[in-house]
Amino acid sequence: MLVYIGLGSNLENPKVQIEKALSALNLSNEVTVNKVSSFYESKPLLDMPGPNYINAVCSIKTSLDAIDLLDVCQGIENDQKRVREVKWGSRTIDLDILLYGQQVISSERLSIPHPEITNRAFVLVPMYEIDKEIKVPILGSIKKLIDRVNTQDLKKL
Ligand code: ATP
Ligand code: CA
Ligand code: CA
Repeated sequence: MLVYIGLGSNLENPKVQIEKALSALNLSNEVTVNKVSSFYESKPLLDMPGPNYINAVCSIKTSLDAIDLLDVCQGIENDQKRVREVKWGSRTIDLDILLYGQQVISSERLSIPHPEITNRAFVLVPMYEIDKEIKVPILGSIKKLIDRVNTQDLKKL
């Protein structure tokens, strides 16, 4: 299965946090990291307080089902000492499953495609960078989605 994962961090040396999470993903059983985007910097969502974020997207190949992959992602977040306080608050690392093949999943623990994809330049732009032909189930082509979002405040590093 080809899967896209979004990574984000704004604490404790964000670039290193993302590199660590990518290595941890690649070291997980049944996961191989395929492509990794550039890193992008942006301000926190909704003018939340805190340092700027670094985000990236990777594609992976995996034989895990989506819920087992979520467990892997949350294990990596825990290993990197993510603390959950306020919603959308600062974090050492966040791993979101953006797309899981062409599957649409809606359960208590998982919504795929990730529901915020369409609103977030820091997800759409790196996805487009690594794969120009992505089709997001229900929502359409990555190209069409990018044209509808404000990419001005996103800085490619
Ligand atoms: P957002 O989801 O808006 O980016 P967030 O990443 O800050 O916000 P978290 O606190 O990391 O939110 O996650 C809350 C819950 O979201 C997780 O416990 C997980 O069960 C659920 N979740 C639902 N869909 C997904 C998905 N596609 N990828 C990762 N987590 C998901
Ligand atoms: Ca997130
Ligand atoms: Ca998350």
